[in-house]
Amino acid sequence: MKAVQYDSARNFDLVDVADPDPGAEDVVIEVAANGVCHTDVNVHEGEFFATFPLIPGHEVVGTVVDKGREVPRGIAIGARMMVNNASTCGHCYYCRRGQPLFCENFYSLGINGPGGAAEFIRVHYAKTVPIADWLTFEQAVIAEPLACAIHGMDQVGLRLADRVLIFGAGPSGQLLAQLAKWSGASQVVVVAPGSAKLDLAASLKAADVTLPITRDHPEEVRPALTELAPQGFSVVIDTTGAAGVLEQAVEHVHIDGRLLVYGMARFRDRVAWSPYDIFRHQIHILGSFAQIDTMERAAALLASGKIDLPGLITHRFGLDEYGRALDNVARGIGIKTVIIPHRGG
Ligand SMILES: [Zn+2]
Ligand SMILES: [Zn+2]
Repeated sequence: MKAVQYDSARNFDLVDVADPDPGAEDVVIEVAANGVCHTDVNVHEGEFFATFPLIPGHEVVGTVVDKGREVPRGIAIGARMMVNNASTCGHCYYCRRGQPLFCENFYSLGINGPGGAAEFIRVHYAKTVPIADWLTFEQAVIAEPLACAIHGMDQVGLRLADRVLIFGAGPSGQLLAQLAKWSGASQVVVVAPGSAKLDLAASLKAADVTLPITRDHPEEVRPALTELAPQGFSVVIDTTGAAGVLEQAVEHVHIDGRLLVYGMARFRDRVAWSPYDIFRHQIHILGSFAQIDTMERAAALLASGKIDLPGLITHRFGLDEYGRALDNVARGIGIKTVIIPHRGG
């Protein structure tokens, strides 16, 4: 099969590799779509926990084309599936404590195991979630980022009528804004560079207010946000992973409010916050790492039709255009970029 394969950080090529054979408990899925996100950019740089050689791609949907002998009969050839890319060992310190998300042997397809930027992918059957008949693959491929967004909302513990401020209007910002609305926020404000992204956030009816911002001068949005919410927002979510934006974000957290560090920053990034302000205002700073068990809920939300998807996918590339897809994401062009393996590659 054809696959994008890294030899080391920044060095990848479209290559021919052996088709995956299913182990006894595996299915082989023909990849219909593979979403690309900032995690892939960090993997490209050798950050996160990327392990080379590697076939990237962790947001995968497709059709079961082969299965091992131990795979339950209910999972049939031809079934359309979402892939839950993450699995855990079950026996390390964190797994034994019931915190498998922090598994010391965290195994994630597309990060430290062969992923979906390929014609086929091998997946343990228990890591597949059926796609509702009425969803297209391009709708279903939102499942992985949506599952991560649901995990993020779980960390925040939104209360009815909370005011929510979200920095960034890429796929994560768009999805978190919708989840905040569905969770009962009284007001959702989305701040992002790029008017097209803000227009989409407004048109999907998730954002009540949208404001432009620049990465170089995030402080320019301060007066508008202060006027909008003089006491700040109960929940502030950063999806940008940009240190300058995070520094700004903490200023807009309501007393006893929560700041969710959602976007993935680089290893070397640092922020300067006033510890006095965090003490005095009793600010809760929360992290949100990936997900391990929210894919089923993402599938249910997508199947419900409650998540608005039109316009979310803006760019489609073949396997032979993986570099262009990465570049698109790195430069924040469009909203969601996907690889369609059987298109050009
Ligand atoms: Zn992703
Ligand atoms: Zn473990």
